[in-house]
Amino acid sequence: MNNSGNNGNKAKRLLILCTTTGYQTRAFVEAAEKLGLRVVFGTDRCHVLEDPWQDGALALRFEDPENSALQIVDYARATRIDAIVSLGDCPTPTAARASRALRLPHHSPEAADICRDKYLSRERLRAAGLNVPSFMRFSLDSNPREVLARCDDTLKFPCVLKPLALSASRGVTRADTEKEFINAFEQIKALLRSPEVQVMRQDTSQFIQVESYIDGGEIAVEGLVDRGRLQVLAIFDKPDPLTGPYFEETIYVTPSRLKPETQTAVVETLERAALALGLFHGPLHAELRLNSGGVWILEVAARSIGGLCSRALRFTSAKVGNSISLEELIIRLAMGHEIRAVSRESAASGVMMIPIPQAGIFEQAEGIEEALETPGVDEIRITAKSNQKLVPLPEGSSYLGFIFARGATPEFVESALRQAHRKLRFVIARTLAVV
Ligand code: ADP
Ligand code: CA
Repeated sequence: MNNSGNNGNKAKRLLILCTTTGYQTRAFVEAAEKLGLRVVFGTDRCHVLEDPWQDGALALRFEDPENSALQIVDYARATRIDAIVSLGDCPTPTAARASRALRLPHHSPEAADICRDKYLSRERLRAAGLNVPSFMRFSLDSNPREVLARCDDTLKFPCVLKPLALSASRGVTRADTEKEFINAFEQIKALLRSPEVQVMRQDTSQFIQVESYIDGGEIAVEGLVDRGRLQVLAIFDKPDPLTGPYFEETIYVTPSRLKPETQTAVVETLERAALALGLFHGPLHAELRLNSGGVWILEVAARSIGGLCSRALRFTSAKVGNSISLEELIIRLAMGHEIRAVSRESAASGVMMIPIPQAGIFEQAEGIEEALETPGVDEIRITAKSNQKLVPLPEGSSYLGFIFARGATPEFVESALRQAHRKLRFVIARTLAVV
């Protein structure tokens, strides 16, 4: 046997299910390479020309998880698959079904499906006695005036209207008055009927959910479920107020500055939530709010943190070493490795998702060098491309880029992110009205 230094994993093969070939995919590929794994892709974007893995990819249709899973099983007859990871929300139902058929530990198909549906997941969590906003679901065809008349005694302001199928806060809108309710309803309707959303062909695109508005500070939690046992990897504070009308993400900082007993309550809540939703093995990303009424769950997703944000997380383990990425941990978990002894690095760390300041055509970012000199700032990545059309919330869905910082305390990290952001200037041309 040749000795290629692959730690005995030489022949192991990882299936990565993804809809895009962006930076998150690259992070998984890098981690797989570090672990000496072979990689095969399953994607529904094989027609995308710049797909660098076109040759080796399995062409799947994630909106049809049953058949996609059958295709994977078929492939695995000839080419053994040792683990499956999925990126983002769309491929999780496929990953769960294929894993079950191949007897690989994973979240159950039911859990993967429920977590993708903001209505079903709320029902489950409420039935388990957990605090969730009150919620009602309306068909996209409803007339918001009739909805208001019908729900006269149940609907209280402020409330939040949201699409069931989208993510990254797209369409999520707070309404304080009937007028704002009607406007938000019509706006979400238009968004869900746009061709771009319709191509996703999701049943949940036919609904708008209305929820009670939960006041209070918000946190995000990154975790792994290891054969039913939740391991919280990081609690991120979101120090910018998220009071609406739209909920644009900005700063995430860990470790959390919440009191230890509050953090314990958050972990206990999520343990119950994971159990209620049936999350068994794989990543978990949650958003919660905290107020005098306790810990409120806004969302539990069967995936890891999105975009480039995972770069804010590094882990260490006496056995494996330092500088372990989240992607490496997720792959190790999928391979059935022991991950219990792993913990986040001791430094405080944070990321700022750079919000889109105005609609228009992105030209360039200036002041990057200067911003990079801010003490604590590690990295600045401008992900918007020049000439890219920028669409702010509620319709839009992306950020201009990301700023990363590390330091001794969360306060230092937060301030470094803000200082660096102030040094950046974005040149955005106004879009000309099309005639
Ligand atoms: P998405 O899947 O698009 O991220 P979420 O349901 O997680 O949608 O909502 C996005 C953000 O909107 C949340 O992180 C929170 O800041 C805000 N939000 C959503 N629902 C509520 C609610 N019921 N009360 C208060 N804020 C909410
Ligand atoms: Ca969310």
